[in-house]
Formats: sequence, C-alpha cells, structure tokens
Amino acid sequence: MSYKTIIKSLDNIQSRQEETYKFLHRNPELSMQETQTVAFIKEELVKLDYQVLEIGGGLVGILENGEGPTILFRADMDALPVQEETELDYASEVDGVMHACGHDMHMTASLGAAWALANNKEAWSGTYLALFQPGEEIAAGAKAMLEDGLLEKIPKPDIALAQHVLTTPEAGHLGTKEGPFLSTAASLKITINGRGAHGSMPNLSIDPIVIGSAIVSKLQTIVAREVDPFQFAVVTVGSFQSGNQANIIPETATLRLNIRAYDEIVKEQLISAIKRIAIAECEAGNCEKEPDIEVYDSFPLTDNDAEITEHVTNAFKDHFSADKVVNYKPMTASEDFSAIPRAFEIPYLYWGFGGFTANQSIYANHNPKFAPAIQPTLRTGTEAALVAILSYLGNK
Ligand SMILES: [Zn+2]
Ligand SMILES: [Zn+2]
Repeated sequence: MSYKTIIKSLDNIQSRQEETYKFLHRNPELSMQETQTVAFIKEELVKLDYQVLEIGGGLVGILENGEGPTILFRADMDALPVQEETELDYASEVDGVMHACGHDMHMTASLGAAWALANNKEAWSGTYLALFQPGEEIAAGAKAMLEDGLLEKIPKPDIALAQHVLTTPEAGHLGTKEGPFLSTAASLKITINGRGAHGSMPNLSIDPIVIGSAIVSKLQTIVAREVDPFQFAVVTVGSFQSGNQANIIPETATLRLNIRAYDEIVKEQLISAIKRIAIAECEAGNCEKEPDIEVYDSFPLTDNDAEITEHVTNAFKDHFSADKVVNYKPMTASEDFSAIPRAFEIPYLYWGFGGFTANQSIYANHNPKFAPAIQPTLRTGTEAALVAILSYLGNK
C-alpha cells in the first residue's frame, strides 16, 4: 500500500476534522494556559492508542510501530490576547482571546495525521512522535517542555518537523526554504528612572519623557550606522509609556522594544548597542540611577537543514505537483520550535502553507480579522504533515 492510499483515507475524517477546527477556534487559550486544549488533544490521541505524556504544559503522543526512524512533528497550541472581529459563525467564545495565528489549524492538521498513521499501521514503520507545544507566542513553551525533561521522557527523534499556516502562497499551496527561514527575535523592557516634579518646575525634575525620546531617536542609528548593511536587522520601539497628566512630570518612563536578526552575533550586537545607548542617554539626562533593562521573549533562529529540505520538498512536489510548492524568501517572523531539535542536537525542517484563497481578503496572522479558509487549507496542512512524515516512515 502506497502512502497515497493513506492520504486518500483522510476523506473519511474530513468533516470531523472541520468540526474539530471550529471547536478549537471557538475555545482559544492563552500562552502557557492551554489546559482545556491539552485535555482535548490527550483524549483524541488516547482514543487512537497513542501513549500520551504530558510534559511542561504540552504533550507528546507516541506511536511505536516496529523498526525504523523516529520522527517528531510539532504543532503549537496557544492563542493570542486579541478580540476577534471575523464575524465567523465559529468565532472565539472567549472574550479578548483568539486563535489569530492559526495554531488551531496546526493542531487539527496534526490530529488528522495522527489518525491516519494510527489507522494505517501496515503502511509504515518506525516511531512517530506527535508533539503539541504550549506557549509559542511568548517563546516559553519549547523551553518549558525541555525544562520538564522532554529529552529524557521521549525516544530521541532522528529529525523534527513543524509547519505554519501563512498568508502566502495561495491556499492549497505550500513552500519550503533551505537554511535560515525565520529570524531570531527578542524583546527588551527599558525603565528610565527620572525624578518627578510639577509641570511648571522642570528644573526640579529629571524628565524621563525627554530622556526616553532621546533614546528612541538614538536607537534609530543602530541599524542605520552600526550593523553591516548586508545584514538583516530590525529595532522597533513598540511601546513608550509615561505619565498621565499634562502638568506632572512623571518619575519613570518605560520603553518596550522588539528586535529581529538572522544571525545570533547581530542579535547580540543589537542588544549590546541598545543597552549602551539607554545607559548613556540616562547619564546624559542626569539620571541618578541607571535604567533597568530586561531582555525577554528571546527566540532562536529557525535554520532549516539542507538535506531534509531537499528530501521533503521533493516529496511535496511529487504529491502536490511542482507548481504548488514555492520557495519562500526568509521571513522576519520568529519561532521557538527549533529550541527542541537544537536540544536533541538533531536536524529539522519548518515549512509554511497558504491559508487564503484568491477571492478572500487577506488579513495577516495576529490580525483580529485573521480567518484562513478552512478548505483547502486544512486538507493541505494535514496532507503536508503526512507526506513529510511518511517520506521517512513510509514503507517503500
Ligand atoms: Zn503568532
Ligand atoms: Zn504562530
């Protein structure tokens, strides 16, 4: 039996899969709070006779099926603090929380692949690991699973795979990218410690708003004047908060920054330049105390292995036809998935699949109107997962 037969068997669960997707979409949970989602997925995997381990807020379904490689496929589970504005009949029922990044699509596709593998065991051999990860959006989930002993608790995989629904290419299409695909990222919180005073007496203050403004301006020179022009780097100040009255100079100001780079060295360069500028501007502004600087939500580089990329891309082209498989350009988005294969010291591939049909208005991931077309997106994601997994586990 060829793996095409297994993929064809997805016809049997297509409408149930669509119901699962709608259920997950209606019931989103924030990062590191995915308890109901975990319970739901656990029940589904147990029904399919997977051995299920709950690890670090996530879970791994293990299906051992004789000799062969061990393949890990990861889906993320968390939703975002976004108020849904899609007007879909299966819109979020949780106020202020929404699956606005498509992780509900990833879970449903992964459950579909898990079903197909469990129901067609004669067509493949090896060990399959269906990993469901919490807290991707805040770069906490992969770390939490590793800290809870993931490396010791599951069989060591030979390779790791993951996918994400994206706004391009068109739904029904998908794509890969060898080498660096998603950037490193980090966020920084800078608190400027000034001195408050009456708005009419600026001479008695150390004004954190003026100092913060100087920091924001000076930060613009990092990418323009310090980073190699051939390197990719982004420094964004996404939040600047201070004071709430016209006639009061506040005590403190808080800046929140987000940075992106394709190179760990550039990422460190950005962080050290930001710290240097913040400290120097506070000193220039006569602050009595250095600013408090905290680095958080640090994402690693997603760097696809060349051999796996070629192997899986060929399998995709073979199954979907070559014109459905695009070669992505590097993206400025980031992911914590690679922390898992990095910890196991194994190669990995992370690919994307399209979520929007040609006649749909496209709203990007994280937008309150983000609404991928259920089909052909869900079927494409499920088939892509199976094709990639079976390209290693399937009996030739
Ligand atoms: Zn996201
Ligand atoms: Zn996402």
